[in-house]
Amino acid sequence: MLLHALLALAVSASPPARGPAFSAAEKAAASRISAAALEAHTRFLSSDLLEGRLPGTRGDELAVQYVAAQFRAYGLEPAGENGSYFQKVPMVGIDVKVPGSVTFNGPAGTKPLPLAVPKDLIVSSGNQAAEAKLDAAEVVFAGYGMVAPEYQWDDFKDADVRGKVLLVMNNDPSSDPALFAGKTRLWYGRWDYKYEQAAKKGAAGVIIIHTVPSAAYPWSVVVSSWSGGEQFELPATPGEPLLQSRMWATEDASRAIARLGGQDLDELRARAEKRDFRPVPLGVKLSLAFKNTVRTLESRNVIARLPGADPALRDQVVAFTAHHDHLGKKVGAAPGEDTIFNGALDNASGVATLLELARAASVEKPKRSLLFMTVTAEEQGLLGSEYYCKNPTVQPGRIAANINIDSINKDGKTLDLGYIGHGKSSLDAVVEAVAKAQGRTVKGDPFPDRGSFYRSDQFNFARIGVPAIYARGGPTFAGRPEGWGTQRVDEYIARHYHQPSDQVDASWSWDGAVEDAQLLLVAGLRIAADQKLPEWKPGDEFEAARKKALAEVAGK
Ligand SMILES: [Zn+2]
Repeated sequence: MLLHALLALAVSASPPARGPAFSAAEKAAASRISAAALEAHTRFLSSDLLEGRLPGTRGDELAVQYVAAQFRAYGLEPAGENGSYFQKVPMVGIDVKVPGSVTFNGPAGTKPLPLAVPKDLIVSSGNQAAEAKLDAAEVVFAGYGMVAPEYQWDDFKDADVRGKVLLVMNNDPSSDPALFAGKTRLWYGRWDYKYEQAAKKGAAGVIIIHTVPSAAYPWSVVVSSWSGGEQFELPATPGEPLLQSRMWATEDASRAIARLGGQDLDELRARAEKRDFRPVPLGVKLSLAFKNTVRTLESRNVIARLPGADPALRDQVVAFTAHHDHLGKKVGAAPGEDTIFNGALDNASGVATLLELARAASVEKPKRSLLFMTVTAEEQGLLGSEYYCKNPTVQPGRIAANINIDSINKDGKTLDLGYIGHGKSSLDAVVEAVAKAQGRTVKGDPFPDRGSFYRSDQFNFARIGVPAIYARGGPTFAGRPEGWGTQRVDEYIARHYHQPSDQVDASWSWDGAVEDAQLLLVAGLRIAADQKLPEWKPGDEFEAARKKALAEVAGK
């Protein structure tokens, strides 16, 4: 026991020196964050009663009403539509009736290759129509499926891929630091980018090759996210190019598809690491027809405002966000199996934090206004925040910053902070100063290869130019050996992420979450009090959007 404790001490880092402390007002605000309240909100929102909070269901509505009731109790102003706390989010729900298996046909003389759904292959609709169809569409290996002029990169070259099915790699090239930010995953490395880009090229379908390193999560997450239920999208705009089918294949299945066309997947992938890559037709054909049940539905974002006190600044807001939706109930579960995706960490815990920030802030008026918003349908592709950012209640040029909370640190106090979006904007200095006052250092994204910046709602705010913070304690935990925090995160991802077992349990510690909430609150108040608006670092991918947004405000 003693030996164990000594070993832990020996390998854990010593706490960094503390910076200037919080002001009296900041200290008072921070002290209002309650661990008991965080736990209570998380437990209610992730209870079986809410049935996994799938958008458009009763559980979703219960969560929405719960959040609005808290906002009202804190005395916050309604900031949604028509004087209410709500913003309606119209969606299209697509329920796909996919066959249990799909057959790929190779050149003459080869044996057809049947792949099982969802064991080997995930098949989903892409077209918001009653039927999706591929008629002997040729499968073409298209490398990373990227077009990136700033890196002189174009996987398509002059290849005509109209009507074809593209077999593409996930992520973006990682070996060269000068290309696609090295190991850091950019928007180009995201599955949603792959589908969007292929549709622009006129492709009829896309199969993304799943590997754990390139996706940053196991196949079971792809299965639970994409199969056995309805998929949601914002209604397509007229003329928007759409795919017939969006697919994922396991690495083994992708190997088999390549082999059917007489190709070696490893050899194809090696070629795709270079700029001179050209799409490779595999001589493999895919026919597929399935029915989609398409319906329109509605969910809601919940929005409240704490008005600012400064006449010159109160038209501007600092926007806090957390998504309240999750995955609902498991379809086709075995008898006796737990069917409810409780989403305790993801993201009942983030909503709980947002509510505590709102309560703690509501006692005193900040200079700028604060906007507190829970958004719907994050799990279906960040739809609630996308809808908000396309239909903002505050002009984007008046949104000083977005502070997004998606899953808390449930493992205790930390010596550092993983800040996703670190290095992108002037918000770095704010987060660093607040962390320092807490005796913590800022580490940046602990998993830059996972593309986390593009995987939660802050991405939609960044797209309309709003600098964003998405931060949480870790990976170094007080009194724990090095690597322990990363191990805990990996364990959660492997066992509980997007599974019915994402539930509050006795191993959760709330003191780290309190410290993180205090950091976000004080950071928010400092941003709200600063005469200057936060800005992107020169050359950042979102700088142009900010300039446009600020010009729109100035012009009005
Ligand atoms: Zn999630």
